[in-house]
Amino acid sequence: MFGAGGAGTGHYHSRTRSKPTPKKGKNTVIVYDVTLEDLYNGKTVTMNLERQGICGTCSGTGGKRGARSKTCVKCSGKGKIMVNRLLSGGLMAQSQALCPVCDGQGTKIRDVDQCRKCKGEKTTKEKKKTTWHIEKGMIDGQRVTLREHGDQYPGAPTGDVVFILKLQPHQTLKQSSEYDLLATVSVTLSEALTGFSRVVFHHLDGRGISVTVPPGRVINNGDSFKVEGEGMPIERSERKGDLWLKFELEKIDEDWAKNVDLEALAKLLPSKRQNVVPKPEIIDDVTLKLDDNPPQPREPRPQQSHYYEEEEDQQDYYDDSDDDGGTEFCNHSLSGQADGLSLAIGIPPVLPSTTPTG
Ligand SMILES: [Zn+2]
Ligand SMILES: [Zn+2]
Repeated sequence: MFGAGGAGTGHYHSRTRSKPTPKKGKNTVIVYDVTLEDLYNGKTVTMNLERQGICGTCSGTGGKRGARSKTCVKCSGKGKIMVNRLLSGGLMAQSQALCPVCDGQGTKIRDVDQCRKCKGEKTTKEKKKTTWHIEKGMIDGQRVTLREHGDQYPGAPTGDVVFILKLQPHQTLKQSSEYDLLATVSVTLSEALTGFSRVVFHHLDGRGISVTVPPGRVINNGDSFKVEGEGMPIERSERKGDLWLKFELEKIDEDWAKNVDLEALAKLLPSKRQNVVPKPEIIDDVTLKLDDNPPQPREPRPQQSHYYEEEEDQQDYYDDSDDDGGTEFCNHSLSGQADGLSLAIGIPPVLPSTTPTG
């Protein structure tokens, strides 16, 4: 090291008084795209990482064998220089900065003595095959740090590589929280009325998820069911969040309706409604024109009294569903590879209005 054997020389003292901060190897931050499958199952990633590594030719000295250093002209060997910064209001401020010519070393190898490989930079770009792991149950935005896999610089700590996991949207599954999953299951009119038993979707580990709704249990559009323990795994635990299945009634096929005995069907279905009461004095027949793009109703201005009414309504809704909370179905899986599920009716969690991104 510089001045180690020269205690008492002027040069040594000047170096101690304004000891330059050694350049630290830079941390590298990489945003890494992951799928919900990656977070559910875990994943081992093998990739080539590029970094500045200590030059193998000069071992990080920056010079040829036996090269001599000279005092840096820019900083006169101090390793630091004064820089002017313009402040708001036209004021100038002076502050210390690392000398860019000698990187704070105070000395510089003469141009003719520079290492040919790194051109005196002491480091060179290098590629390294690196393997790292996405653990089961990691979440969107989580950081995975590979210590000392970042840039190197002689005499300074090696930087880290930090991966920030960025979750890509999934085609069929959404998250209501880090660990709860939401899936929409489309059911036909027949299934809604008479029950069904089938594999409804592929889970993130490839398992088929089989659902059985017994005859006699009618499915209404928007009914939601909770499947406990079928959500996302929780890191470093055996537990999992929950899966919510929301049933959506498929559109009724018009061609089917044209080819069915509607009179016979009407007798099977619940009876049709009567006119509104009281009977109006004047009744007009109107013509219906199908239009799939109806205008949106105007939002009423929020009023204090409305607000309270809504809260009460919601309370009733919760109470009702609590009564149904104990309902469970007996289920049978359709095939050996599918998991039969036990369903309990409940209120689904609400999707966050904005998806957090990291
Ligand atoms: Zn070199
Ligand atoms: Zn310098």
